[in-house]
Amino acid sequence: MTPKSALFQKLPSTDEVLRRPEIQALAERDGLAAVTDAIRNVLARLRGEIAGERLDERSLEREQKREQELELALAGLTAAVERELRQSLGYSLRAVINATGVILHTNLGRAPLAVSALEHIRDTASAYSNLEYDLAAGERGRRDVHVDRLFQKLFAEHGSGATGEARPSAAASYSTIVVNNNAAAVMLALNSLAEGGEVIVSRGELVEIGGSFRIPDVMSKSQATLREVGTTNRTRIADYERAINDRTRLLLRVHRSNFSITGFTEQPALDEFVALARSRNLPLMEDLGSGALFDLHTIGVANEPSVFDSLRAGVDVVTYSGDKLLGGPQAGLITGRADLVARMSSNSLFRALRVDKLTYAALEATVLAYVKHDYDAVPALRMMQMSKDEIAGRAEALVLQVNSAAEKSPKLKLELIDGESVIGGGAAPTAVLATRLIALAHGDLNADELCARLRHSDPPVIARVEESRVLIDLRTVFPEQDASVAETLTSLN
Ligand SMILES: *Cc1c(COP(=O)(O)O)cnc(C)c1O
Repeated sequence: MTPKSALFQKLPSTDEVLRRPEIQALAERDGLAAVTDAIRNVLARLRGEIAGERLDERSLEREQKREQELELALAGLTAAVERELRQSLGYSLRAVINATGVILHTNLGRAPLAVSALEHIRDTASAYSNLEYDLAAGERGRRDVHVDRLFQKLFAEHGSGATGEARPSAAASYSTIVVNNNAAAVMLALNSLAEGGEVIVSRGELVEIGGSFRIPDVMSKSQATLREVGTTNRTRIADYERAINDRTRLLLRVHRSNFSITGFTEQPALDEFVALARSRNLPLMEDLGSGALFDLHTIGVANEPSVFDSLRAGVDVVTYSGDKLLGGPQAGLITGRADLVARMSSNSLFRALRVDKLTYAALEATVLAYVKHDYDAVPALRMMQMSKDEIAGRAEALVLQVNSAAEKSPKLKLELIDGESVIGGGAAPTAVLATRLIALAHGDLNADELCARLRHSDPPVIARVEESRVLIDLRTVFPEQDASVAETLTSLN
């Protein structure tokens, strides 16, 4: 019998490990502090393993096995320290292959950036730039001009500029400012337009977006008072009208980004909102959440209004994300009547919520792709527009490749089935795209174990599980990553 204490005694001290020549070499390369840290972590893990042994497992046979395992672990100690070191000195944030079919996956970094965005970041951020410098005048400039000028072009094209039909009387034009994310955009807009006053919102739109963004909480943080009207499923324009009083500062509409209400429902049409806001001389704001800059009907998604639809209809201020349907970097965009947006950009909160040059560079390149109608340059748009046939062709080739590399009786069974990809990122929650999926089944591994193996491959492959089946959707896999996915699947045989 080997009691635990004897096993503990077999563990060397940190100093003893440090004196090993191979470890000395590591210390010379990566520094003594990092190596000492790595040794401590490895030894702590071993100690934890010994201590973790439960009493009821302490049969003689089991103990002998433990002792052997410990010997083995000690023999591999140097290698373990080196692995630990590599991990701790490597990046924690790393690229993964998104095989979930969710295009704007919040946990996986939402929108992948366009190549032009990366190049523009490199060019402007590895040197000095005119971020806040007016080259023509030779004096201090504003960082928002870089993005605002492109939005002006888009508005002109989509008929929602100063001459838009919906606002014949508006002397003002539209402008766009950028903050850290859409949550910040909503907060800045509410604080600038409604601090100390009331904002009217339907009870059916008091949404929570993942990561604790709740409309009532953002409202109170922005020092505006929420005035709820209507019911969860039905709100009429008369409900808003009745709630207007002399403390009212703003009418707010919030896009139901992550749920839909069906059945006995009613919501005023945007026209009715605009008419009410105009007649009472109140601004109308819409938190669009996703904020498409292109027409989603073209890919078969209905009921997802674009930023231009809202502005054309006469909404005064819209807020939306940079990294959802727009397909750019994390950012919050506020587009609206220039006089209202000016109140936001002169608010001291704006200074606290502003974004850096990396974001402007990525956003400018992404919006420029829209101006040039180069939609294929934006990865999220390319993925949305990819046909089921194209995905099926790639999936078939991949399955063929894995199967032909396999031995006679492969452990991994691959099957092609029809399914759906999800846009995600707060686009219409019901917005799905037809796709062709690779369904995986493994002789020795259940769905969770199979997913874990995929996750632990290099690069990690993130699949989705549905009805205890592991599914791979190539819509969100870049075509140049297909070979890597095939290799990972082959390694499971
Ligand atoms: C996603 C979303 C937000 C939050 O946007 P972030 O850019 O993630 O901060 C706010 N409102 C709505 C309606 C959304 O869909």
